[in-house]
Amino acid sequence: MLVLLDRDGVINEDRADFVKSPAELVLIPGAAEAIAELCGHGHRIAIVTNQSCIGRGLIGEEQLDAIHAKLHNAVRRAGGRIEDIIVAPDAPWAATERRKPGPGMLLEAMQKFKTAARESVLVGDSLRDLQAAKAANCHRILVQTGKGRATQAAGIGAELLPVHVAKDLAAACGFILEGRF
Ligand SMILES: [Mg+2]
Repeated sequence: MLVLLDRDGVINEDRADFVKSPAELVLIPGAAEAIAELCGHGHRIAIVTNQSCIGRGLIGEEQLDAIHAKLHNAVRRAGGRIEDIIVAPDAPWAATERRKPGPGMLLEAMQKFKTAARESVLVGDSLRDLQAAKAANCHRILVQTGKGRATQAAGIGAELLPVHVAKDLAAACGFILEGRF
C-alpha cells in the first residue's frame, strides 16, 4: 500500500508552538521502527504535512529541510525509507486545497506513486487528516498520539467512517501489515 503519514503527532511529538528546528523534532518512541517495518514488507511511505509555520513566516524552507534531514536520518538508521515529504506551507488564512482538510497533497502523492485510493491509507492525529483522506477516498487511521485522543473525544462524524483507531503509529502499522484494508 501507499502509506501517507501526517508528521506532527504521528511520527514526532506535536508542539503547540510548531517544530521550528531539528532540536525540536522529537520522535515518538517506536515510530521510526514502525516505518521501517512497513518498508520491509514492501509498503511505500510518504509524509503529507501542513506546515503553516512557513506561511506564518516563523521558519524558512532551509530550516524545514534541516528538520526533515533529521527525520530522514532517523528512519534510515532504523532501516526504513521515507520516499517523499509533501508539504503544504499555507497559512490557515490563505489555505489552498493542498492544506489539509483539503485533499491536494494526498492526490499529488497518489498520482506520483501511481497508486489508487483504495490502495492508499492516511495515518493522522487530527480531524483534518481524516477529512482530507475522506475527500481523497483513502483509507483512514487515527492514532491516539499527538492530538489523537482529543480528536477522538470530540467525536468523528459519521461521514468520515470507517476510521480505524490505533494507539500509535506502531499499532497502526500492525493493522496495515495484517492486511486489514
Ligand atoms: Mg498531526
